[in-house]
Amino acid sequence: MKVSTAKLLILNLINKLDRQFFPATDGNVSIRTKEGLVITPKGWNKLKLRFNDLIYTQFDNINPNTSSEVLMHIQIYKKRENINVILHTHHPSFLKLAYKHRPIEPVIDELKLFLGKIPVSEYAPPGSMELAINVEKALKNFKGVIMKKHGAVFVARNTKEILYTIKRALTGAEIYES
Ligand SMILES: [Zn+2]
Repeated sequence: MKVSTAKLLILNLINKLDRQFFPATDGNVSIRTKEGLVITPKGWNKLKLRFNDLIYTQFDNINPNTSSEVLMHIQIYKKRENINVILHTHHPSFLKLAYKHRPIEPVIDELKLFLGKIPVSEYAPPGSMELAINVEKALKNFKGVIMKKHGAVFVARNTKEILYTIKRALTGAEIYES
């Protein structure tokens, strides 16, 4: 995918999500390109981003202005060739599960068919390589991970798919809340 297309798709994806996905400057989104990835910048409110604010970076020569969780995005893209979109969020529904170290189990048929389990990854400090490794290890072939005491990350082949995954994961998280 071209860098310019990836930038447009990221802006479009952020626009389609509820504000709760990106409190303050938290959360980040990336899309794989031909030779690297486009990712949201460090320390920005995602809802105010414009086309030129999004950053292209290579896997091995990381632009210092990229999101603080860029290592996690790169680790997932390196290990999972079928994944092209990654979204990390501190949405409160997922934070509750992260705090309790609780996975989303596919307890209803719709979740069993289209989401599957969302497991919990081991804790490591935000932005660290250790966190990137722990998340990728827990992710395996699942569609997302609850990051212990931190938040959640979701992956997909494209932006349409990640929207469905996130909506279903929210349903799963809400079942636990009730
Ligand atoms: Zn985070």
